[in-house]
Amino acid sequence: MLDADFFRRWMTAAAASVDREAERLTALDSPIGDADHGSNLQRGFKAVAADLEKEAPDTPGAVLVLAGRRLISTVGGASGPLYGTLLRRTGKALGDAAEVDRGQLAEALRTGVNAVRTLGGAAPGDKTMLDALVPAADALGDSFAAARAAAEEGAVATTPLQARKGRASYLGERSIGHQDPGATSAALLVAALAEVAGE
Ligand code: ADP
Ligand code: MG
Repeated sequence: MLDADFFRRWMTAAAASVDREAERLTALDSPIGDADHGSNLQRGFKAVAADLEKEAPDTPGAVLVLAGRRLISTVGGASGPLYGTLLRRTGKALGDAAEVDRGQLAEALRTGVNAVRTLGGAAPGDKTMLDALVPAADALGDSFAAARAAAEEGAVATTPLQARKGRASYLGERSIGHQDPGATSAALLVAALAEVAGE
């Protein structure tokens, strides 16, 4: 079973990973964006980790709701509200259970991912974070490791796509040939989850 401490460790691991990979994320956001994705998420997850050090919410849902709110309030750009919504809505879907299992998390994550689809109006294949998140949420029903592999595969598969949403879509065909920064950071978050789960 996964308790509040597991979710706190997930967010801390995600913050560390985003911190390590910030330069790469920003570099990916240079040719098809405005070169701020790494710094945006670095700032947001640093604030999340600091919050969770100060106060320790006592349910998985409360940890994710707090993290999501903090991302919305600290991350500018498209990705802040989108990732904030992902975590907040996933947390809400977990309710006030003290512990949840992987299947419940997979179902809650699908709810969160659907909220991102509604908010951003994007679908899989549009070259966004959804190209990693949708397959990851589906594969999480099988295992944490499967979710990580699916997210990574989905991120890599954005390279040949033409962006249809977000800033990269302004480039039209010139967005082809570059891996999407948001799909790449989404894969980092899923990898952090698998890492904390020991997979
Ligand atoms: P901005 O584009 O405002 O500078 P970021 O650089 O932080 O914001 O984030 C860019 C990432 O956000 C993109 O790589 C993409 O994955 C994601 N993104 C942008 N628009 C959308 C959308 N409508 N739906 C889902 N994801 C999106
Ligand atoms: Mg950007």
